[in-house]
Amino acid sequence: MNQSKMLNSKVAIVGCGVAGISASLELTKNGVPHTIFEAKNFIGGRFYSFFDKELGFEIDNGQHFFSLAYKNFFELLEQLDTKSHVEKVSKIEIPFFSKEFGLIPFEEKIFKGKLGLLFGILNFRLLPFKQRINLLRLLFTIILSKNFPKNINTQKYLLQQNQEHIIIDKFWNPIAVSIFNNSIDCIPTEIFFNIFKIALLGKSNQIGFTYSKVPQSLLFVNFQDSIKPQGQLLLATAVKKIKKNSAMFELETNSNQKFYFEKVILCVQPNVLKKILPEEWLINEYFRFLDFVQFNPILSIFITTNEEITPKAFGFLDDSPFHWIFNKTQMFGLPSPPYHYSFTTSNAKDLVSLSQTRIIELLEQEIFKFFRKKINIIACKVIKDKFATVALDSYFFKYRPEQVSPVDGLFIAGDWTQTNLPVTLESAALSGKLAVSKMLKQNGDI
Ligand SMILES: Cc1cc2nc3c(=O)[nH]c(=O)nc-3n(C[C@H](O)[C@H](O)[C@H](O)COP(=O)(O)OP(=O)(O)OC[C@H]3O[C@@H](n4cnc5c(N)ncnc54)[C@H](O)[C@@H]3O)c2cc1C
Repeated sequence: MNQSKMLNSKVAIVGCGVAGISASLELTKNGVPHTIFEAKNFIGGRFYSFFDKELGFEIDNGQHFFSLAYKNFFELLEQLDTKSHVEKVSKIEIPFFSKEFGLIPFEEKIFKGKLGLLFGILNFRLLPFKQRINLLRLLFTIILSKNFPKNINTQKYLLQQNQEHIIIDKFWNPIAVSIFNNSIDCIPTEIFFNIFKIALLGKSNQIGFTYSKVPQSLLFVNFQDSIKPQGQLLLATAVKKIKKNSAMFELETNSNQKFYFEKVILCVQPNVLKKILPEEWLINEYFRFLDFVQFNPILSIFITTNEEITPKAFGFLDDSPFHWIFNKTQMFGLPSPPYHYSFTTSNAKDLVSLSQTRIIELLEQEIFKFFRKKINIIACKVIKDKFATVALDSYFFKYRPEQVSPVDGLFIAGDWTQTNLPVTLESAALSGKLAVSKMLKQNGDI
């Protein structure tokens, strides 16, 4: 049945992930009535959690780590009154686990902040002493540098700076793959070092990483109340086509309803644009990025076991197909035994093609090599997200679009749009804000 609807609001947001949530909160703050269309029956997009019967607790779709330098994402949580669910960090510490040496902390020493971290590198025993000095030498150069080369990838730059392969493998690559979900030879140098400087060499209170102490979706429980009375959320309502008739956008949903708006903020993944926007819009040079969109996968494994693997809340697994271990029992404050752990691999191109059985077999072998424990897995879940994030390589970077589109009244947000940040929660939160502020600037009287 075809239905047309003229809603009270003049602005539509399509997609209620972090970018859509951020845009909605920003519109609410500015008193702008709006309607949010979300295809799924929950909000949060790629950042959500769900109860898993077999594991017996609420699991995240993939472990998310927050840099303390995130500003817009934390502001969003403050607006939702859930920032207290984020673990407070009093000391910068990233535990590295080595098959050979056991636990090697990468942590601040003697001083707080970046000076403390630089001292920490002197104690970073994953590298021979000579390489620690070589790494420090480059870090001082980076601190003093204002500009980084635009046209080479990060690995090439590091080699040019005489960083040996062992430093790249054990220090630079773990950082690159974790922050960018991409391999170091694909990340443009300029964005890598700009972000590195903020996240690891920035202000003392912004260096380090933290996480949610509750399942991810709980961070958004207050969303619908927070956007009242300006915002209206329509769940399980996918927009399947958008067109423009004179000054109005027509949004057609999966149930063939039609809604009309003056402005639209699209907060969806870039591959969705091809499906819902008219072809004549997509030929504009602005949409050229669509030719270069590629996704990098993330693999997440959740296990329940009767044995404790490590009491640490999290740690990086050196030289392993599995990058991070997270102690969910500790992070969520769950009773034990049993113990719940999750493992994640960024840019997991090789692993996602393996069967679940093979992945678990490999994981058991790795756990034994790192922790000398033959554990009995009681329950497990493997989540292969093949479209976890857009690959921010030099091609996509060149065409990464701003939030203002050439179609009058159409704005685009999402972690992948131009924020000068990696494709993260912070980028998503910032993009939503940018889209709204640019819209209001164009048309203050909405
Ligand atoms: C496994 C995993 C681990 C990650 N780890 C980290 C991390 O540690 N730190 C970090 O900062 N970031 C991490 N990220 C990235 C982070 O999740 C994203 O940057 C962020 O969630 C993107 O938000 P978004 O709003 O831009 O997009 P999305 O979350 O993709 O939101 C898009 C929304 O649009 C909806 N939608 C799509 N099509 C339609 C339609 N036609 N009509 C209506 N609605 C539609 C979707 O259902 C979705 O809700 C990770 C991502 C994954 C997948």
